[in-house]
Parts: sequence; structure tokens; C-alpha cells
Amino acid sequence: MPDTSLSSPHAAGEPLDALIIGAGFSGLYMLHSLRDRLGLKVLAVDRAAGVGGTWYWNRYPGARCDSESHSYAYTFSEELWKGWSWTQRYPDHGEIRRYMDYVADTLDLRPDIRLETTVERCDFDDAANLWRVTLKGGELLSARFLITGVGCLSTANIPNLPGLADFAGAWYHTGAWPHAGVDFAGKRVGQVGTGSTGIQSAPVIAAEAKHLTVFQRTANYSTPAQNAPLAPERKAWIRDNLDAIRSVMLATTNGHPFTVTDRSLHDVTDAELTEILERAWDFGGLQFRAGFRDVLLDESANARMAGFLKDKIRRIVRDPAKAEILATIDHPYAGKRPPIDSGYFEAFNRDNVDLVDLRADPIERVVPSGVRLKSGREIPLDILVFATGYDALTGPLIKLNITGTGGRTLAKEWEAGPRTYLGLQVAGFPNLFTITGPGSPSVLCNMPVPIEQHVEWITGCIAHLREQGATRIETTPAAMEAWGREVKRAADATLLSRVPHSWYLGANVPGKPRVFMPYAGGMAHYRKLCAEVAAKGYEGFVLARPAAVAAE
Ligand code: NAP
Repeated sequence: MPDTSLSSPHAAGEPLDALIIGAGFSGLYMLHSLRDRLGLKVLAVDRAAGVGGTWYWNRYPGARCDSESHSYAYTFSEELWKGWSWTQRYPDHGEIRRYMDYVADTLDLRPDIRLETTVERCDFDDAANLWRVTLKGGELLSARFLITGVGCLSTANIPNLPGLADFAGAWYHTGAWPHAGVDFAGKRVGQVGTGSTGIQSAPVIAAEAKHLTVFQRTANYSTPAQNAPLAPERKAWIRDNLDAIRSVMLATTNGHPFTVTDRSLHDVTDAELTEILERAWDFGGLQFRAGFRDVLLDESANARMAGFLKDKIRRIVRDPAKAEILATIDHPYAGKRPPIDSGYFEAFNRDNVDLVDLRADPIERVVPSGVRLKSGREIPLDILVFATGYDALTGPLIKLNITGTGGRTLAKEWEAGPRTYLGLQVAGFPNLFTITGPGSPSVLCNMPVPIEQHVEWITGCIAHLREQGATRIETTPAAMEAWGREVKRAADATLLSRVPHSWYLGANVPGKPRVFMPYAGGMAHYRKLCAEVAAKGYEGFVLARPAAVAAE
């Protein structure tokens, strides 16, 4: 007789109602929502020794969020909101971890979190209608629902450089930074990568190290963060305006707390454009692109904005050779995730900072004393920093070794790219929910917004199952096919899918299929679609009651 119960109270040793993998933004709220709203028996596990998810690991020099602090927080609880006060416009990694600790303590989540607990594999037991989850060390947990909150950018992409094993110095990936920090004093450092991470770390490393060589494969835009401490009046305004802040975030495409102006780049003269962009530059942050609606829709409109930014680089960087390498950018502005910085281009004016254009002279191999380029030039190094990004979105999920019905594995199902319905479920994997999974807006947004939406949708879905007496929910191949077409349509309507070397497409990981992974149709629109699916009795999903499950 299959175990089909979904109720409380629970006797010890019974299967969990839900097992959550991850204790970051997703896992903490999911645990609170299922345990405290629905009264379910829930456990969250995380391989880290503390809560915080991605931010537990991301402690590299300069690591700071580029969402503004007042928008990088949960909005579901006024009490939680008012009990916390951010100190800076953009929180650094330490402050975000302190916030996550505050949330875990305030909501009393720790008794239901197991840290230093690594999931090795997840197998769906069809007869019992349960997920069987094997932990490192062999322990087995069982749960009706398996919910992943493993982050989108948590599986490091470490370049497979020949000779790395023989490097006599130390090397680090920014996403797994030593907690004790790295002492750069007196050291010759090489940094590979100039994405959001590398652009944050380079100026900080340059200020500490004897010498820094930045290895650039693709030149990148960046605008200043203009980070600063929050004034007391600003803090008070944030504390008292949760509803106003949230309503803006819910209405926007990317879940940020600012609205994009309904004006085309074609509607302004060159002089007007310069004036608008200079003001946006001084204001700082991701809001730089908010002055125009067609930045990501129209190539010629984008080129005007890109021209302004390339000129800025040429004006900031005094060495014309370096400036040319940095300003020769081959893709539209914001076509890749636009970084924001604190003194990135200025760092190249320091005497101790060099730049290597890997397009002109690629790394041939790592040698014990440093790096050898194809030209034969050798760069002596004591430390190598890989700011080389992540196997985004699919990597953390595939790593969980998930097997669904009929022995199908997620790795095999996604061999040609991820296929999901709404980024929430995969056919053949009943009762598995993927928070901010591929096919949802996720990384195109200010992350807490899509996380809260997914957590609340999944909670509503499980409550609905309980009301219906159902214990199983699974999407269909047809729903996934239709959603896959919508994900592609939305991406193709923007310039995002036209950047061949973007991690949104999986292009940064050798051998990864080139499929545009996040949903680019906008967070507000996506939220509406998900609500409609639920209102129509979970259209695109098949719900089953215990008898049906037992008869299968
Ligand atoms: P990324 O955007 O993928 O950038 C990785 C960099 O490494 C790129 O310059 C890439 O070059 C280079 N690279 C990768 N493999 C290489 C190789 N084999 N040889 C030479 N260069 C190589 O990764 P990231 O900077 O860690 O950022 C990832 C995402 O994390 C961001 O887009 C953002 O969503 C998030 N993030 C957010 C914040 C924040 O909130 N402030 C901070 C950091 C990161 P190509 O461009 O040629 O691939």
C-alpha cells in the first residue's frame, strides 16, 4: 500500500511532507511558508555550515549585491522588514549573511535546518509516491515533495587550463572563496574573467596586491554603482514604505525598485541623450538603463547607449592601448548581465595593473611560475583568481543526481537543454518543484522577487492538493513543449538571445547546449501567467489522489 498521507501531526521517523534543498533566500522562505502557513513537516538541508546559500560562499574581494539593499530583502512580512536596517545602498556579502541569520533567527527556522548536509542523489519511489534522498554518508531521507532552492549561480565554472595542477602558486574560484580571506600583500596576482564578479574584485585586489594582471576574454560594459552609506532619513523612509517599494517591484519587468521610462532612444537628440546618460551615470546602479524602454529591443537604439559607455571607458582609462582593449565590446549593452562597479576602469590607471587581451593572445597553459600565452610571453604569478562564473541554472540541479519515474534522469532529460513548465516542474519528476528553475525569470530579475513568487505559488499549489485530497502533481510533456516555445519567443523578442557568448545561453561552459534558459517575458507578466495557471485548477499539471496513485 503506497504511503499517500499529507498531514500533521507527524510521528518521528515518518516521511517528511517536504524536503527543501538549500538554506539561502529560497530555502529559508520555503521552509517558513510550508511549516508555518500550512503546518507541514519540513526539513531544509544545506551543504554549507551556515545559512545564506550563494552568499555563504561568495566572499571574494569586493563581493557586493548590485540590487539596492532595500529591494534585496523579503517583503512578505512587515515585522521582518521593519526589524532590519541596511547600512549601505548596496549590501556587501557580510551584511547579506547577517540579514540571512537575522531571518533564520526571527522566524525560528534553525530547528528545521540541517547544515553541513550534502545531497548525493534523489530518487522518486513511484510505488510509495515519495522522494528518497540519499545524503553524503549514506543516510536516507524520504519526503512527499522535493523542493530545490539551490540557487542559479552556485556551481563554479573552472576553466580546464592545461598545467593548472602544476601551478606552484595558489588558485581560487570567486564562488568558493576561503573564509579567512586571501592575503594579496606583496603578491603577483592574475585574474581571469571580467563579468560582474571580476569587475568587482579587480579594483580591490589591485589596491592590495603587488601586481595584478587581468585576463580579459570578452570586453564588458560597466556603470558605476555609486555605493554609499544610507542616510538616517533614507533608512527611515525605507522602513516606513514597504508597500510602496513592493508595488513598484511587482509591476516591473526585472523586479527592481525603479520604473523604466516609456521613452525611445530614438526620441532624443545626441545632446539630450548625453545629458540623460550623464545624470544616470552620476546616480549609479542598474537604473542606468531605466531612461529608455527600447535598450534591449532595438539594436540601433542600443548602439547609441553603447557608444556613450565606450566613450566613457576611453576617457577614464589613460593608456590608449588598454582603453582600446576594454572598449572594444562586441555585444549590445545589457545583452549580457550589466555589471556595476566601484572603480573598475579607474583601476587600469594604476601602475601595478596590466591587461591581457585573450582574444589576441590566449592562455596556452599554466606553468609552475605563472601563465604562458600563445605568443610565448610568460606572466609570473603567485596567485590565480578565477572570476569565471558558473554553470548557471542547470548545473546546480543536474549535480543533485535526480531520477524520476521509469528511471529517467534529469541529466539525460536535459541533455539538449533544460525543458520545464514555467521553470517550476519537469514531466516525469512528480512532486519536484524547482525554485527559480530554468524557464522562469530568475536571473533576469532582482532575485528575492522571483523567489518570493515561486515560494508562494508552490505553497498555494500544495495547499490546493491538500484541499483536493491529492498527493501528487506532475506537469506534462505537452505543457513543457508549449512553455519552451514561449521561453524562446520571449528571448528572441529581445537582444538577449543574440549574444553568442552569454551564460544565459550556456555558452560559457564548454559542451553545454546553447539554449536560452531564463524567461525574458518579464516578471510581472510571468506572475500573471502563473496565477492564471493556478486559477484554472493548475492547467498543464496532472493532479492525482491516493487511489489513483495506488492503482498505478
Ligand atoms: P560571468 O558573468 O559568467 O563572467 C565570467 C567571466 O569569466 C567572463 O568575463 C568570461 O568571459 C570569463 N571566462 C569564463 N571562462 C573563461 C575561460 N576559460 N578563459 C577566459 N575567460 C573566461 O560570471 P560572474 O562574473 O561570476 O557573474 C555571474 C553572474 O552572477 C552575474 O552575471 C550576476 O548575475 C551574478 N553576480 C551578481 C553580483 C552582484 O549582485 N553584484 C556579483 C557577481 C555576480 P566570456 O564573457 O568570454 O565568457
